[in-house]
Amino acid sequence: MRNLIGNLINTLGELFYPSNCVGCGHPQDPGILLCPDCRATSPRIRAPFCRCCSRPFDGLIEGEFVCPNCEDRTPAFDCVVSSYHAEGVLRDLIHRFKYGRQYYLRRLLAEYLAEAMQDVRIQASLIHCFVPVPLHPTRLRERGFNQAEALAETLSKRTRLPVLRGLERRRYTNTQTRFDRVERMQNLRDAFALRENSDVRGKHLVLVDDVLTTGSTLHECALVLRAAGAESVRAITVARG
Ligand SMILES: [Zn+2]
Ligand SMILES: [Zn+2]
Repeated sequence: MRNLIGNLINTLGELFYPSNCVGCGHPQDPGILLCPDCRATSPRIRAPFCRCCSRPFDGLIEGEFVCPNCEDRTPAFDCVVSSYHAEGVLRDLIHRFKYGRQYYLRRLLAEYLAEAMQDVRIQASLIHCFVPVPLHPTRLRERGFNQAEALAETLSKRTRLPVLRGLERRRYTNTQTRFDRVERMQNLRDAFALRENSDVRGKHLVLVDDVLTTGSTLHECALVLRAAGAESVRAITVARG
């Protein structure tokens, strides 16, 4: 009986903490979800990068700078921290999590968010809560869960900062990947709204999403939160597309 329970505990333990790398499947020490080789396929973005959207700059530049995108159209968010390119194994993992319903990957992906939390721009001031980028109810039914919300909740357990589901997606927008930047912005206009009974007045918020592409989604979300009286809106994502 004791053996049976022991085995059961081990099996359950493996379900939650697989002993193989989730990228390449090679055996790993317990607690290591992604081996160093797989991790290295999506290198960390190093300075210099845009102070606002973290877009990396190829070449030499001294001190702080703001990229042409952020200069053209001042984003409604104070900054977005996204320290890894969505490429290699990380790109696959995000895809498996989001579309393949491999929900257990949330813990690993939230580690990338926890790393973003260490950035000076996030650490610089108080945070009241995380606000996940919402999904439209139709998309939520298709996908089964909101990946941004799942990540925010996992991060919330680590940081003990609460999650505020303060936004809703009112318009069902076509999938963004086929659009260029201007089309994306038009597609997203008025797509988000403050959820009923949400109070963000005077709050310092951190938006959470899986992937940063043009920043239009985060911009639109931040616009709504600002208009509702949020004191500051920063954002973090697992990676940038
Ligand atoms: Zn691996
Ligand atoms: Zn920028």
